[in-house]
Amino acid sequence: MIDFQNVLDEIHNDLKLEKERGLIATYIPELKKQSNTSFGIYLNTISGENFYVGDWNLKFSIQSISKVLALSKAITFENKNIWKRVDVEPSGNPFNQLSLLELENGIPRNPLINTGAIVIADILVTHLKNPKEDFLNYVRHISGDQSINYNLEVAASEQKTGFNNYAAANLLKSYNNLNNDVDIVLDFYFHQCALEMNCKQLSNAFYLFANKGKCLNNNQHLTSSQVKRINAIMLTCGFYDEAGEFAFEVGLPGKSGVGGGIVALLPNDFVIVTWSPGLNPKGNSLIGMQALEKFTTKTNRSIF
Ligand code: GLU
Repeated sequence: MIDFQNVLDEIHNDLKLEKERGLIATYIPELKKQSNTSFGIYLNTISGENFYVGDWNLKFSIQSISKVLALSKAITFENKNIWKRVDVEPSGNPFNQLSLLELENGIPRNPLINTGAIVIADILVTHLKNPKEDFLNYVRHISGDQSINYNLEVAASEQKTGFNNYAAANLLKSYNNLNNDVDIVLDFYFHQCALEMNCKQLSNAFYLFANKGKCLNNNQHLTSSQVKRINAIMLTCGFYDEAGEFAFEVGLPGKSGVGGGIVALLPNDFVIVTWSPGLNPKGNSLIGMQALEKFTTKTNRSIF
């Protein structure tokens, strides 16, 4: 039996005083307010145990991690048709790179880079009656937590400065891969990215991806085949142009966000979330990646 609490405590102790903590994302002005010393971990096992350490209960902006949740909802509406509009290949490029979209005639490389996530947002705007409210309710439902909310200052901050995302959405529109108005789709997308959660809430939200599509409340949201595909996309595309490095070091499917969160999971076994806002040059949490490498090494648990 592994003493998970002891493993988390050791990792936290090893890394909490580490001087090299990466840089907080500043391109979304609201994110500058985070403290670079924040560091939390939360582990949720499928057998119903949980373990946590550090700042696991402080809320942070989940940013790109929301792209997996949006994809999981969009799949329930369109299933395989999604893949006519978005591909499933790693991009090998930063999350906001636009040139690939031109080379590939308006079909984004995958749903976890911004262009792909904007297409997914478009699908949700088409299918949801009150997109922002309904999506929030979905996230609250799968997490079993009604207190989860959007941070409206973060959404507004990104709306003001999201020139690259406006360019992406306009480009998609010019290739007929956006059915709704650019402003409406981006308003939804900026809110989705501005979801605020702590490590526990995020870990609960991702439980269904480790549990064959059944959330903590035992409701079946996705088929095991849909979960297989979403986990495959997380493994190959979840870490910007560092997905290979994450698979190599950590060996789990997962997703990171520029708010410094990382969620990773081992199907049928556990979900783990780390949060440390300083990012490495590729945009992934520096301390979070180190913590997860230590976790899978110490526990010998990974998909490989
Ligand atoms: N809202 C951010 C953007 O679109 C998400 C970036 C991220 O976390 O990768 O720029």
